[in-house]
Parts: sequence; structure tokens; C-alpha cells
Amino acid sequence: MTTEVLESWVAGRWQGGSGDGTVVRDAVTGDEVVRVTSDGLDLAEVARYAREVGGPALRALDFGQRAAVLKQVAAMLDERKEELYELSARAGSTRRDSAVDVDGGIGTTFVYSSLGRKGLPAGHVIVEGPPEPLGKNGTFAGQHVLTSPHGLALQINAFNFPVWGMLEKLAPALLAGVPTVVKPATPTAYVAARAVRILDEAGVLPEGALQLVCGSLGDFFDLLGGQDHVGFTGSAHTAALLRSHAAVTSRSARFNAEADSLNCSVLGPDATPGTPEFDLFVKELVREMTVKAGQKCTAIRRALVPAEQLTAVAEAASERLSKVVVGAPGAEGVTMGALVGLEQRDDVRAAAGVLASAGRLVHGDPHRVDVVGADAEAGAFLAPLLVEVTDADRPEPHEVEAFGPVSTLLPYRDTPQLLDLIARGEGSLVGSVVSHDAGFVRDVVLGAAPFHGRLLVLDRDDAGESTGHGIPMPQLMHGGPGRAGGGEEEGGLRAVHAHLQRTAVQAGPRQLAALFAAEDPQAEK
Ligand code: NAP
Repeated sequence: MTTEVLESWVAGRWQGGSGDGTVVRDAVTGDEVVRVTSDGLDLAEVARYAREVGGPALRALDFGQRAAVLKQVAAMLDERKEELYELSARAGSTRRDSAVDVDGGIGTTFVYSSLGRKGLPAGHVIVEGPPEPLGKNGTFAGQHVLTSPHGLALQINAFNFPVWGMLEKLAPALLAGVPTVVKPATPTAYVAARAVRILDEAGVLPEGALQLVCGSLGDFFDLLGGQDHVGFTGSAHTAALLRSHAAVTSRSARFNAEADSLNCSVLGPDATPGTPEFDLFVKELVREMTVKAGQKCTAIRRALVPAEQLTAVAEAASERLSKVVVGAPGAEGVTMGALVGLEQRDDVRAAAGVLASAGRLVHGDPHRVDVVGADAEAGAFLAPLLVEVTDADRPEPHEVEAFGPVSTLLPYRDTPQLLDLIARGEGSLVGSVVSHDAGFVRDVVLGAAPFHGRLLVLDRDDAGESTGHGIPMPQLMHGGPGRAGGGEEEGGLRAVHAHLQRTAVQAGPRQLAALFAAEDPQAEK
């Protein structure tokens, strides 16, 4: 084996695991990039270092100081983001894709820094609201107080957002005073590792605040308990496996999951061809299919359109999709890169085949793609695939996630059937409704809300400033019920609170005032 082992950042040292490990290949050329293994690393030392070094160092800082650290984290990564762009290209990402991951992650960190600075109180403790009187004579009251637990935040990330995924979890944990251990997905661990190395070289983080384990976590869950927090992003299968570990079921480690999602986008009956909403719908659908080559947890998987518009939408989307140029990131004219690897391409092909068996392909061929600047077979390339399923009751579109440039077009008759189809996704991260009809939008938003973590309404009025269907915002909730994992990430300071322990303190008003004299409830805005 000549390819180098990707080093982990554990207990203050960069260390390589032993053994052959897993070979990670360039998504575009198929060349070996790194080997990933954690064999031989002392993972018990990782947990100890986080708890005994990182935790105390972070808890020694007040909220304002932690927010300042985050600002430096974002600034340092911003300074050297070209390195992250370059590495991301090896994972198949175009510059547009990397902007979502790299700039998105940096922007999220800046936002959290600002939220922390403006929205958290002075000191180390959050006192929630004024005391709640509990006795008739006013001598007994209760108050909630939020403090930093003495554990660690383990984050396990999916391959598609190695930078954003890490930073959106790191930021709230750091503000909460909890040290982080990052376990990146193996296919893009080298991108996450570079971001961590940049932060190490910049020296902006307190010692032990951040560690990185590349490769398997081994028995790490055996070391976790009630002071710890696990933030997982990935498949529903892995989420279910980890959620059932005794660390969670018996010892009550907090567990947050973001998993698969068959997100929908709805075209309103008013949005006929020629209206701005019809064009917005088609544009957004194609964008969601092609950014990150569709490897986005929030991508539109089910495009629900009025039955009478099915053909018009298929034609308009096909026309747009035919302008997509697939190829090596950075090559002349390329607008869509590669999937992360050949295995992923094979999985997506298989899933697209199942979807197509329920209807027909209206755009693209799973086994043929024209590629610019690379070898179509050596790289993990796939054409964007649009499937039309005229029988919207078929189970496949509501059950099968093709985690690539694949969407299904489905017709609906009326609003009740539409809401039924939406619910058949069994819980999604995001849905969108593209319509200028406020009544229709209201019915869809209120009918779909129980099944979604986020809903986007798009029309001619808000399109100019809309952040889009697929982009979670740090100020707003990211997560979803049911199939989507049942978790909540981001959502502004709510994500910080999720890392803190809430304790109800009952005492007389004089004691309460003395206990929290240094903390000002009014300061928490
Ligand atoms: P995955 O196979 O579940 O892997 C996710 C992460 O879990 C990786 O870091 C993986 O590490 C790790 N992992 C796997 N088995 C583990 C175990 N037994 N113990 C501890 N960690 C373990 O998912 P993926 O294929 O990377 O990601 C694609 C899926 O993620 C898609 O289904 C997509 O919908 C979902 N996703 C969801 C979101 C969201 O925000 N909801 C975002 C992105 C992706 P290794 O890579 O080393 O195996």
C-alpha cells in the first residue's frame, strides 16, 4: 500500500491508524486519494481528553468568549477555503456545489457567532425568564436554569457535506461549552480533515474543544452516557442501529438524527405554463436535481403537479435538464459534477431503476452519460434522471430514495389527494409549494406541516430573495419527523439549548436572586 493514511486529530496529536484501511478514490478519475483507518487509535483517550481537557477549557469561557472563538473559526476557514474547494473537487463537487458546503458552513458559523453574541446572556448560565411563583405568600418560587453538561458532543456525518455538516453541529455545541468529536463519513473524510487541520494551524480553538476520528468509531458508544450528545446525519438504517445502543436506550445519551427524506415540491393549480410560478417550479426542480449531483438530503425527490400539467412540466424540465453539462469539476462548461464514488453511483442507478419500474423515464439514461473532461466510466458520473409515475398511488416514489440526480414527477387531482400523497413520504426535512394562490398555499402548508421540518412557499413576490428549497438556514429548524429521523438541528439558539441541561430550581426569591445574581435573564433576547 503506497497511498497515505489520513490522520486523525486526537488528544492534541495528528495520528494515523494502522492496517490497510479503506481506500478512498477520486470521484472523477478513480485514482486513490487516501486510506482511512482508525485501527490502533486510543478512542478511550479521545473521550477522556474531551471530558477532562476540552470541556473544562470551554466551560471556562463565557458565552461571549465562545461566540468570539466561533467568529475566528469562520474567519480562518474563509481565509483558506480554496484548499477546501480543491479537495472537494476530488469528491466530485463543482464550485457551485462547494459553495453550498464550504461557504454554507462558514456562513453558518458566522451566524451562530452573531446569535451567540447578541442572544446569549453574559456569563455561563442561561436563566430562563422570571421566577415562577409557587406559593400564595410569595416566599417560594421556581426558575429554570440551563448549564453546560460535562460530556462531549459526538457528531457522525454523512459524506455529502463534510464541511457544512461538521460546522453546523460544532457551532451550537461550542456555544454550549461542550467539546466535539467529529466522525466524518469515510468517502469525504479528507475534506473534513483539512478543515480541522486549518483550525489546528490557526490555533483558534481551546485545547480539546475539537477532535477528529477518521475511520470506524469501534466501541466508542460504550464510552457514552447521560452527559453526552450524539448528532447523527446519514441513512435511516444506521440511525436505527445507533439509536438502539445502550448508550442511548439505557444511559440516556442525547441522540439527534437527520436521515433519509423523500422531500416534495408542489406546483399549485394556478401555476399554469406562462406564469412566473410555473417557471420557478421547473427551475427549482432542476437546480435541486443537479446541485451536488442530487446528493442532498433536502433535494426534491417527489415533484407533485396538477394532473393536467404533467406533460407540460415534464417537457419544460427535460428542456432545462438537456442543458446540464456533466463532467469534471472545473472543466469548461461543466455544470454538474460526479457522485462521490462508483459504489454510490451503482446504488443510485439501482434505486432509479426501481423508480422507473413504476413509471417511465422522461429524461436521462441511467447507463449512458456524456462527460466533459473525464472518463465516463472511471469517474462516478450519472446523467440527471427524471421519472414520471402517472399512478401516484404506486409505493415506489414514496419509499425509495435515489440519493443522486433523480426526481419523480407525480400527478395529483385535488388538494385532499395531494395532502395524502405528501403524507406518504412519512416525514420529510423540507417541502415546498410554488403558487401565487394564498388559499391553496394555506391549505397545503397547514396540511403538510405535521410531516415536515421546514416548508418553503415560492412565488413571484418572494423569489428574488428566497434562499431556495434545498438550503437549510441556521436561524431555522433543520430536521424532520418520521423517516427524516425525528431530529432538530440548527434553529438558532434552540440548537444551543439542546446541548444544555435544563434544571428547575425551587427556592425562595431571595435565594434565587442570590444564586443567579451574576446572570441576567433580561440579557437573553
Ligand atoms: P450512512 O452509511 O448511514 O453513513 C453516515 C455516517 O455514519 C458515516 O459517517 C458513516 O461512517 C457512519 N456510520 C456507518 N455505520 C456506523 C456505525 N455502525 N457506527 C458509527 N458510525 C457509523 O449514510 P451515507 O451513505 O454516508 O449518507 C447518505 C444518506 O444520508 C442518505 O440516505 C441521505 O438521505 C442521508 N443524509 C441525510 C441528511 C440530513 O440532514 N437529514 C444529510 C445528508 C445525508 P463511514 O462512512 O465510515 O461508514
